[in-house]
Amino acid sequence: PIVYLNGTLTPLSEAKIPVLDRGFIFGDGIYEVIPIYGRKLFRAEQHMARLFRSLAAIGITNPHTRAEWMALIEQVVREHPADDQMVYLHITRGVAKRAHAFPKESTPTVFIMTNPIVLPSAAARQSGVQCVSMEDKRWLHCEIKSISLLGNVLAAQNAAEHDAVESIQFRDGFLTEGSSSNVWIVKDGQLFGPPKDNLILEGIRYGLIEELCAACGITFSACRITHAEVFDADEVLLTSATKEVLPVSSIDGKPVGKGVPGPIYDKLYAAYQEAKAA
Ligand code: PMP
Repeated sequence: PIVYLNGTLTPLSEAKIPVLDRGFIFGDGIYEVIPIYGRKLFRAEQHMARLFRSLAAIGITNPHTRAEWMALIEQVVREHPADDQMVYLHITRGVAKRAHAFPKESTPTVFIMTNPIVLPSAAARQSGVQCVSMEDKRWLHCEIKSISLLGNVLAAQNAAEHDAVESIQFRDGFLTEGSSSNVWIVKDGQLFGPPKDNLILEGIRYGLIEELCAACGITFSACRITHAEVFDADEVLLTSATKEVLPVSSIDGKPVGKGVPGPIYDKLYAAYQEAKAA
């Protein structure tokens, strides 16, 4: 596969980063993942806005205009044979002598790669997926799409060790999010999600779910959701670029609702597929 690194297209195997890159040394950078369907970026505007927010949040001067970013992404997408892809953008503060505070001068490292998008299997959609719950032990800036992902890595590993697809995290008894997804609950036909604050990453699907709910006549409320409310929900859903909308069948071995995907999932999944095709 061909990737973009600091101004050049190169085979992935030849893309090299200096060991003093602050991404390697400190995890000092941000990233973005954008789904591509039929060679077109899905929700490009929103992903670009989040990329710009992430850069600003950690004080990296945006090295490109929106048009330049789009051109770089399209170059990489064009090189790939698959029509449906997921593009990964990774920007670090660049290479500098090792010292924690920002270097006086540094040039951001920009890396872009793309892979075929791997969507959940038909079986996962049919029966829902297993999750496990755990305490959210991450830092208090989860709204930044940081490449410092150790907390998320440990949460994902916890899920893997329990044969689960995701860890559903709780902070001080309230639902936050999955290791790499947003989490939603359904009660009496209404959808609820945690508020967009510093405790979760605002998925690009967050805004989309709000729009799809409005279009489908589903009432949505953002509010703090307790542990008990999650376990008492009629449905629990996950969203992310690669999961799209995915139903949860059990948490910690306890069935969610009837233990099978419910009607709100069906509606939102259908609406999501329509939005992709539009
Ligand atoms: N939360 C976390 C921690 C994530 O890693 C992701 C996936 N990027 C999401 C939520 C969902 O975000 P999106 O809908 O933009 O994929």
